[in-house]
Amino acid sequence: MIDNLVRKNILALKPYSCARDEFKGQEAHVFLDANESAYNYPLNRYPDPLQEQLKKSISQVKGIPSEKIFLGNGSDEAIDLVYRIFCEPRVDNVVAIEPTYGMYKVCADINDVEYRPVPLSVNYALSADALLQAVDEHTKVIWICTPNNPTGNDLDRGEIQKLLTNFKGIVVVDEAYGDFSNLKPMRTYLEYFPRMIVLNTFSKSWASAAIRLGMAFASEEIIALFNKVKYPYNINLLTQQAAQDAISQIIRIERWNKEIRNERQHLIPSLRELSFVEHVYPTSANFVLVKVNDADAIYNYLMNKGIIVRNRTRVTMCQNALRITIGSKEENNELLGALRNYRTSKR
Ligand SMILES: *Cc1c(COP(=O)(O)O)cnc(C)c1O
Repeated sequence: MIDNLVRKNILALKPYSCARDEFKGQEAHVFLDANESAYNYPLNRYPDPLQEQLKKSISQVKGIPSEKIFLGNGSDEAIDLVYRIFCEPRVDNVVAIEPTYGMYKVCADINDVEYRPVPLSVNYALSADALLQAVDEHTKVIWICTPNNPTGNDLDRGEIQKLLTNFKGIVVVDEAYGDFSNLKPMRTYLEYFPRMIVLNTFSKSWASAAIRLGMAFASEEIIALFNKVKYPYNINLLTQQAAQDAISQIIRIERWNKEIRNERQHLIPSLRELSFVEHVYPTSANFVLVKVNDADAIYNYLMNKGIIVRNRTRVTMCQNALRITIGSKEENNELLGALRNYRTSKR
């Protein structure tokens, strides 16, 4: 059904068959098939190429069957694979909102695929029609990020649905920050939209950026393509174990995320009180975009105090904007203390 969207070489590809693919039985106990060492268990063994146990756990947490889950070395692997599966270099193109997460464009450039950014409208709102106008017969993918990075806002669900129904290619909805939003996750609508790919990650709400684990939820057909193209052992054993640990202690994650929402509630009004703050944009993420009167000066001032925020002033539509991650109570208080001293210390 989506074969016409897939690159011909990928459709024809015969994937690498590894030793662990060929043998799936439970009864064997002598493994002499993969040239592994007999010593140093369990690190001597190649990990499960399809991460079946971990997917079972993720399936329960996310409410998506294992066959509709791909796990990648960060969401970044999934983003790159979307290009490699669907986009013929120098022929096909993709359409994306602007401003948004930088990796969509970096991966387009690496894969030599034309990237068509379409500015969001006022208040960083999504206009499906504007994106659809940029589509032509070679557009394979539309990139959507909600809540969007770096703006922080939820994109309108009606507009996203309009893209999903009217665009005949792949729509990727990156919900890296979905757990910080009150809206229903887009993955729950997977059944209705066979060409939608939803991205989630362990890097933000799961507090595990170091383990590099991203998730893609999509139709079995699309997941089969991901599995065909990925490196055989793309998720190492230590990462699979750490993810299982995180899931088994999900109560901790829920507590931390509640704390982040609380801190977000407190930080925003305090930022609004600062004289040099011109606008605090609404956010449904674990960061907030703040328009100030001189982003470079405040960025440098904070850096000299050992506080690093993200200066987005040179990003389209983000002039004089700083993107500030919601930290711990202590970190946020240190930030506010420094900002309150900003004007006085300058004189
Ligand atoms: C942080 C972030 C990710 C996470 O990428 P990983 O490779 O999983 O760490 C994905 N998408 C967006 C929009 C992000 O901001």
